Amino acid sequence: MHEVELVGKSKAVVIGAGVGGLSSAAQLAQTGKYDVSVYERMSFAGGRFTQHDHDGFQIPTGAVHMIPHGCKGPFADLLLGKRSKGGLDLGRHGVEFLPTTKFACQLKDGSLYGADSVYGILPWFPMKNALNLPRLLAKRAKRPWGNETEDGRTWLKRLFTDDFIDFLDAFSNFAISLRFDQMPASTVIRILQNSFWSDRPYIPKGGCKGVIDGLKADLKQHGARVKLSHEITEILPGEAEESTKEKRFCIGVRRRGRENPTWLGADAIVHNGGHPNLLSSLSDDFEVAEGVREQVANTQAVGGIGFVFDLDDEIPHRDSGVTMLPNLDRVGGYVIPTFSEPGLAPEGRHMMITHQYVPDPSVKSEISKGRDDLYEAIPWLSDHGEELCVHTYHRNWPCNRAPQGAELPADIGVEGIRLVGDGVKGHGWMMVEGIAANVPSAVRDVSRTMDGA
Ligand SMILES: Cc1cc2nc3c(=O)[nH]c(=O)nc-3n(C[C@H](O)[C@H](O)[C@H](O)COP(=O)(O)OP(=O)(O)OC[C@H]3O[C@@H](n4cnc5c(N)ncnc54)[C@H](O)[C@@H]3O)c2cc1C
Repeated sequence: MHEVELVGKSKAVVIGAGVGGLSSAAQLAQTGKYDVSVYERMSFAGGRFTQHDHDGFQIPTGAVHMIPHGCKGPFADLLLGKRSKGGLDLGRHGVEFLPTTKFACQLKDGSLYGADSVYGILPWFPMKNALNLPRLLAKRAKRPWGNETEDGRTWLKRLFTDDFIDFLDAFSNFAISLRFDQMPASTVIRILQNSFWSDRPYIPKGGCKGVIDGLKADLKQHGARVKLSHEITEILPGEAEESTKEKRFCIGVRRRGRENPTWLGADAIVHNGGHPNLLSSLSDDFEVAEGVREQVANTQAVGGIGFVFDLDDEIPHRDSGVTMLPNLDRVGGYVIPTFSEPGLAPEGRHMMITHQYVPDPSVKSEISKGRDDLYEAIPWLSDHGEELCVHTYHRNWPCNRAPQGAELPADIGVEGIRLVGDGVKGHGWMMVEGIAANVPSAVRDVSRTMDGA
């Protein structure tokens, strides 16, 4: 590790050690120009993009170990891209993406279909869908249309058959816990266009934690600190405290187990904790742009439910690609990432992770209905699988704070503060692809503030 001189450098504080916060911190730290610290309220880094070991099974905290657009999406550009091209070049720390064995699969009425590319999916459906696909791809949707009254499903029904839409909708359910009729048409069109032009999904070597470990190693190399079990409770103007008066911000940090906050000065803040969290900690001394508070208050976070199964090595389905379960009321699909990264389960075992959206607030009954769905749709599950755990993700903590298509701003109008992460996914980019799509501009903005400070 090389020594980094921090004295006199502008200070950047990153709030939250999710993948958005850590990658922003890494971009800032790699410049060598700033003193960078990350504060995380949990006792581990990675937020919803890491895992915990359970008897050799790498159980996710959220993400099902998938990089949606593989090596051709914004996440690969950011994590693995060369520094000369704005990437972090984390291959230096062993970060590697492994391809899934199929672009996508479908299990329908007991029959399994697998496709090696997006074109391989089309023969599963009536010809009308292949003929109309160019019209979907040519539709202008690079930006949200604004004031949209039509949802994605209604728009798609003009061009495609129900079985094709159900297949795509199962993917949406699996990937982002939303159905097409819950999103504006321009968002759905752009998601499909991005998926079409991108790669098959990949799986990080070592799972999500492999990426987080790479980010942590890079931060350490560049002199940045990651403080776990430290929650940011208040953001005040620098002059609020004697010790921070030379800084733009005075930040209250509460260490786990302590009552009172300590005060920390910062020249810029990257916030990875979501808009509601930022707004509740921000003092009234800062003027938030008109309409933002209302937009945030009116934005409902989405939820999901995921089962994790231990599978034996005799299972008849041996692919790591996302398998859609169309036509089910709840579950969208499953993945068995161990067919690409065997290290995610003990030797001779496999791990299957499912995902379903939550149409009803009674999470308990949704869990049992989802379980019924799974045993009914997957003919081999009862003979080869054993349920390890079920996770629920609902309300605001700590991910899916803003549903895809909500288009909340990264800039709430306060100079020196930018949001990154799930709350500000780029238009039409799913999951960590959406996070990565927005990190570079947030980092550029706070860097400008610090350079002018
Ligand atoms: C079930 C499920 C499956 C998913 N599968 C995939 C997948 O396979 N592939 C994929 O790409 N994406 C997937 N996603 C989405 C992906 O997990 C998220 O998009 C991503 O992990 C969110 O990252 P983030 O940067 O927004 O931060 P988060 O993971 O939300 O982390 C934010 C962090 O900030 C901390 N924090 C918040 N407020 C404060 C504060 N005041 N002080 C200190 N710390 C604070 C939180 O504790 C948390 O650790 C999935 C999501 C879910 C729920």
